[in-house]
Amino acid sequence: MKRGVKVPSLERETKWHFVPKVKKGDKVTGGDIIGTVQETNLVEHKILVPPGISGEVKEVVAEGDYTVSDTILTLQSSGEEKELSMMHRWPARIPRPFKDKLEPREPLITGTRVLDAIFPMAKGGTAAIPGPFGSGKTVTLQSLTKWSEAKIVIYIGCGERGNEMTDTLTNFPKLKDPWTGRPVLERTILIANTSNMPVAAREASIYVGMTLAEYFRDQGYDTLLVADSTSRWAEALRDLGGRMEEMPAEEGYPSYLASRLAEYYERAGRVLTIGRPERFGSVTIASAVSPPGGDFTEPVTSITLRFVRVFWPLDVSLAQARHYPAINWIQGYSAYVDLVSEWWTKNVDPNWREYRDFMVRTLLREDELRQIVRLVGPESLSERDKLVLEVARIIKDAFLKQSAYDDVDAFSSPQKQVRIMRLIYLFNNWASELVGSGVQVRKIIERVTYLGDLMRAKSTIKNDELQKFDELEGKLKSLFDELKKGGVNLMQVAGIREYSNVNSIKGPLMVVQGVTDASYNEIVEVELGNGDRRTGLVVDSGMGVAIVQVFEGTSGISPRGTKVRFLGRGLEVKVSEEMLGRIFDPLGNPLDNGPRVIGGEKRNINGEPLNPAVREYPEEFIQTGISAIDGLNSLLRGQKLPIFSGSGYLRIS
Ligand code: ADP
Repeated sequence: MKRGVKVPSLERETKWHFVPKVKKGDKVTGGDIIGTVQETNLVEHKILVPPGISGEVKEVVAEGDYTVSDTILTLQSSGEEKELSMMHRWPARIPRPFKDKLEPREPLITGTRVLDAIFPMAKGGTAAIPGPFGSGKTVTLQSLTKWSEAKIVIYIGCGERGNEMTDTLTNFPKLKDPWTGRPVLERTILIANTSNMPVAAREASIYVGMTLAEYFRDQGYDTLLVADSTSRWAEALRDLGGRMEEMPAEEGYPSYLASRLAEYYERAGRVLTIGRPERFGSVTIASAVSPPGGDFTEPVTSITLRFVRVFWPLDVSLAQARHYPAINWIQGYSAYVDLVSEWWTKNVDPNWREYRDFMVRTLLREDELRQIVRLVGPESLSERDKLVLEVARIIKDAFLKQSAYDDVDAFSSPQKQVRIMRLIYLFNNWASELVGSGVQVRKIIERVTYLGDLMRAKSTIKNDELQKFDELEGKLKSLFDELKKGGVNLMQVAGIREYSNVNSIKGPLMVVQGVTDASYNEIVEVELGNGDRRTGLVVDSGMGVAIVQVFEGTSGISPRGTKVRFLGRGLEVKVSEEMLGRIFDPLGNPLDNGPRVIGGEKRNINGEPLNPAVREYPEEFIQTGISAIDGLNSLLRGQKLPIFSGSGYLRIS
C-alpha cells in the first residue's frame, strides 16, 4: 500500500436488508432507531440517527436491500435537507453521548468460575488483568471473549505478538457461543494491531474499539471490550511522547498517562441511551496489563488500579504450578460483589452469597495457616485447621482451577458453578461435624471415596447434566450419615478391613492369616500393641494369606496384639510444587528437617497406565554431555535408558 492511501473501512458493495421503523412526517432526534438490519443471526443492527442530528422525516426508503452508503432517509432539519445512510462517522476520541449513566446491576457472566464467583464482573464495569509474561493473560481474555454473556464482544489485539492474533482468527470461527449455540464470530469484532505495526496505530486501535463498543451500546446492547494489552498502548504513548520531546514523568511515561487511562476506563458503564425507543446498553472493559517482570508497582499497573473496580491479578507461582487461571485469590478484588449477589440469589440459588463467602473465608484462612506452618511446622495445627487446609485444597482443585482447553470445563454455567460450590460447602459442614466429634481429618479424607468424583465434577458433568450433581450429593450425604452413625470405627465404608491374626514375622515380612480380600500393592496400616503405627504393602496374597512388607521393619512387632488394616488403596505419596530441592524417604516424609508437604495432591506410586492412543513418539534428544551416550545410545525425552553394570564397575550418574 502506498503512503497516505485512504480505504473505506466498511465494504460498499454488499447490500443489506433494511427494514424501516419510521415514516414520513415523523420527528426524529439523535439516537432514534430509524430501521433495522439483521446483520448476523445473532445481531440485529439498529440503524440510528447520528447523535446531534434531528428533524422531520421527509422521505424514507421502503423495506429492501441497500448498501451502507445508499441514502435511506431524507431529513428536513431547520430549513436544510439532510441525507442519512446506514452508516455514520464518529470521532473515535470523543465519547458518544448518552442520557444517563447508571449503577451496574447485573453480573457479566463469564463462565470462568474464579471470576464469576470470587471476583465478579458487572455489565458496565471495568477490570484489569495484570500479569507477567506467560501467566495466562491472553488465554483469560480469550476465554472472556468466547464465553461471556455479552451481546457484542470487541477484542483489541494491541501490540501483542502476531501469532496470538492468528490463533484467534483461526480458532474463533470454529467456536460456538454457549448462550445461543451460534458461532461466536457472529457477535465478535476483532481489531488486530500486532507488535510489528506502527506504534501510533496502537492508540488508534484502543479508541476505535471503544467507539465501536459505544456504538453497539447505543443500540441497546451489552458490549464487552477486551484489550490485550494496555501496556503496549502506554508504551506507544511513551514512544510518541519521546519523539515529540515532551517532558517525561515516571519511568519515561508521559505525564498525561494517568488522564488517558482514566478517560479510557470512564467510557465504560451502563447507560440509558439517547433516542427512542427508550433502551439501556452497557460497555464493559476488561484489559490486560503487562507489567515488566510482574512488578505491579510499575506506573501502568498502579495507575490502572486507581480506575478499575475489578482486579484479576495473575500470579507466576500459580501459573508455574499449572494452576490456571492463575488468578491470585488473596490479591484480587471486585467492587461488585454486593451488587451482583442480588442477581445470583434471585436467579440462580438463594444461598449463593453464603457459599461464596465460605469459599473466600476458607481461602484466606488457609493462607494464614500456611504462614503458621512455615513458622512453627504442621504439628501446631488443630484438626479444625487441618480441615481448613483440606477444604481449601478442594476449593482450588474442584472449583478455582479451570482448563480453557477442556471442552466441558472451559465454560461453567452459573447453575453448574453453584452446584460445585454447594457440594464443597456441604462437604465442609459434614466433615466439621465429624471433626467435632473427634474424628481425624486424615480419616475423613481417606474414607470419603467420592471426593475424587467431586474434584472431577467440573470436567465430567456437563452444563446440561446437573441432575448428576444430585446423585453425587446423595452419595456423599449417605456416606457421611453412615460415618456419623458408625463414628470412628466404621471402616468398611471406604473399603478398609482390619485383621489381628498375624501368623508369623520373617525379616521385614509379616504373614497375616484369614485374609481373602487383600490385593497386590495394597497399602496397609500396622498398629502395634503399644499404639505405634507403621506402614506396609501387600507383596503377595492368596489362599487366605496376605504377605505384608513393613517399611519401617518389623523389629518390636509381636504377632500378638498387632492390628493390620488393609486400606483399600495403593501406596500414595503427596506431590506438590513444594518438593523441588528437598530430600524425602520413600514414603514421602521429609529427611531434611524441612516441613511436611501439605499442599498438592496424593498420587498412587504405581502411576496410571498411559493411554497408548495419546502417546506420541519421542522425538527430542536430551544431551547428557557424555559422548558414549549421546553418540551411541542417545537419551530420548520420554524414553528410558537402562544402565547395566557388574558390581564393582563404575556406574555413571
Ligand atoms: P500471557 O498472555 O500472560 O503471556 P498466555 O495467555 O499466552 O500468557 O498463557 C501462557 C500459557 O499458559 C498458555 O499457552 C497455556 O498453556 C497456559 N494457560 C493459561 N491459562 C490457561 C487456562 N485457563 N487453562 C489452561 N492453560 C492455560
